[in-house]
Amino acid sequence: MSQSKCGVVAVVGRPNVGKSTLMNGLIGEHLSITSSKPQTTRHRVLGVMTQPVKDVPTQFIFVDTPGFQTKHSNALNKTMNRAVLTALADVNVILWVVEQGKVGHADLKVLELCPKEVPVVAVVNKLDQLNDKNLVLPFLQKLGEMRNFAAIVPLSAQAGKNLDALKEVVSGLLPEQPFFYEEDTLTDRPEKFLAAERIREKLFRLVGDELPYTCTVVIDRFVIEEGRRVIHASILVDRQSHKAMIIGKGGEKLKRIASEARQDMERLFDGRVHLETWVKVRSGWADNASLLQSLGYE
Ligand code: GDP
Ligand code: MG
Repeated sequence: MSQSKCGVVAVVGRPNVGKSTLMNGLIGEHLSITSSKPQTTRHRVLGVMTQPVKDVPTQFIFVDTPGFQTKHSNALNKTMNRAVLTALADVNVILWVVEQGKVGHADLKVLELCPKEVPVVAVVNKLDQLNDKNLVLPFLQKLGEMRNFAAIVPLSAQAGKNLDALKEVVSGLLPEQPFFYEEDTLTDRPEKFLAAERIREKLFRLVGDELPYTCTVVIDRFVIEEGRRVIHASILVDRQSHKAMIIGKGGEKLKRIASEARQDMERLFDGRVHLETWVKVRSGWADNASLLQSLGYE
């Protein structure tokens, strides 16, 4: 048996390029939440995958980061930016994710943050959106002139295309060392956190444009009773009017959010879940540093 490989792989890029979708695709679980809205990911999420690559036992420790945020300067965004920088300080490989055909100021800003000592793989995502395949090569060439990348890998995170090629490239850059985690570990995050994230994802996917940014989710109770998880969750909103929008006519909206979140939790936890949700007004939570800390933002 050959010596095992193990290392930390940070996934970085501007908001909405598909970082969370990519990490989920690589580890084969819907762990990190995703939506078509930018800045869905607020926390650093670790996704661990252990599998042989070319007969070498390999443990990938992926770190999904919030997109680096430059527009608004509130306490939440400052905290998220700090999370990105911390994620980069001590990793073995960086995946810099961009969208095919689009590299702009925001992408380059993230690239500049990547330490020179760490190998960076340029991941060109959303290849499925490209109609004219002749445009791929010139774009990859243009990228190649921007930095001395360890590799440039075009793929589609959503369609699961070419992910194996990326795994091979990354495994080639990981050091030979024992695993950090047990082989069946999926994440370092507790189930309570994952449960709150599932609800946040539904808010991003099911509630109007700006509203999800002003909400967060707290788990008030998480116990196992009679073989099922019993979870009580509060959705914190900024204003009374927001509360009404989340609850919806006759409670329909909240019912759908809770029901979809519960189904996802049952899949992720592989067991039955009883979920109850409330909506509570907590004005200014996104600008309250101590409240953020108590909500688990680092
Ligand atoms: P993040 O902000 O970088 O974490 O981006 P997400 O993973 O949340 O994805 C943002 C949006 O891009 C979501 O609507 C995804 O479904 C979509 N997306 C991600 N990967 C792909 C892909 O390979 N192809 C297409 N067409 N859409 C993708
Ligand atoms: Mg994300």
